[in-house]
Amino acid sequence: MEKPAILGGTPVRDNKIYYGRQWVSEEDIAAVSEVLRGPYITCGPKVTEAERKLESYTGAKHAVVVNSGTSALHCACIAAGVGEGDEVITTPITFAASANCALYCGAKPVFADIDPETYNIDPESIRKCITDKTKAVIAVDYTGQAVKADEIRAICDEFGLVFIEDAAHSIGTKYKGKYVGNIADMTCFSFHPVKTVTAGEGGAILTNDDDLYTKLVLAHAHGITHDEALMEDAPHEGEWYYEEISLGYNYRMTDFQAALLISQLGRIDEFVARRKEIVKRYDEAFANVPGIIIQKNIPESDTSRHLYVIRLDLDKLTCTRREFFDAMSAENVQCQIHYVPVYWFPYYRHLGYEKGLCPNAEEVYKGIMSIPLYPKMTDKDVEDTIHAVTKLATYYAK
Ligand SMILES: *Cc1c(COP(=O)(O)O)cnc(C)c1O
Repeated sequence: MEKPAILGGTPVRDNKIYYGRQWVSEEDIAAVSEVLRGPYITCGPKVTEAERKLESYTGAKHAVVVNSGTSALHCACIAAGVGEGDEVITTPITFAASANCALYCGAKPVFADIDPETYNIDPESIRKCITDKTKAVIAVDYTGQAVKADEIRAICDEFGLVFIEDAAHSIGTKYKGKYVGNIADMTCFSFHPVKTVTAGEGGAILTNDDDLYTKLVLAHAHGITHDEALMEDAPHEGEWYYEEISLGYNYRMTDFQAALLISQLGRIDEFVARRKEIVKRYDEAFANVPGIIIQKNIPESDTSRHLYVIRLDLDKLTCTRREFFDAMSAENVQCQIHYVPVYWFPYYRHLGYEKGLCPNAEEVYKGIMSIPLYPKMTDKDVEDTIHAVTKLATYYAK
């Protein structure tokens, strides 16, 4: 049996790899430089081009590009009419922004539990969380696997709720043959560097609804319009005139970031294919490793996986999750945990949330760990990661 590096054995590799990493090419850099040399570094033609590109890629009618995935979620809540006293249902196994966006609007996040095998929000649990204050559901495509959109849609229709999909992980995924972005009332993407395509920082909201689109455009740019049809004091006083007709923010993306996004979107098929290839290899490698549980694949989801999450079966191992994590770091495979249940954080605790709210989420959290997954990984990186996981699972087997 191989000795773990943390106990003095030889690490599976010499240099560290991380759970996620961007892939910026020379073409991407050239595209950004070109914009920086030109007249518009923000609010120029590249933002519009990126929006059209996201529409054609997903099949959605409208896209609004913004400066982060978090801003995208905030705009979606504003467009949904989420306000003081409302409730918004989401999952606890997500990045904090999926719930924070409800707080930004003065609403209360309500946490529905997850499916213990796919780790996505459980529609039956959503149903149980609904009250007469519920305004919207923010369902997260955790790790990139599409949520049960048909069931969530049916619940939203029954109770008059807005269906927002937090697709920060899932650009490139298809649900029942349709691209994510063209399914929920509004879909939010993130272009943070660890996500599937990057703009440095960035996000987008997609919708097929004209009214929501108008509200999203206003929300992301100061609530200001140049469209006479929307003005209250029209006919306007001159070409220079514009009106603020609602409260909005400055959530615009710069043109040079949009250029990076366009260039990255040009490579998305390649990124998605490589992610799928790595996931397939991992699934095969870990299928029969005692102590390692793999995430259940959702058959309706043709998934572009953003994260590969293994779950330690702690009853079958002599180590804790913490010890396994530290031992992986010593092997030079840097993992991460996605995510601490959002309502466990002190800020949420001080708002009155208590442990025990979502038992499945809390149980799953105890064992999960994201191992490296990004398109630039070499086959050797993939094999080293498999080696590290199986080495430690074997060493620590009961
Ligand atoms: C990354 C992420 C966000 C936030 O996106 P940013 O672009 O970092 O603001 C929101 N939700 C989920 C699930 C994410 O992973």
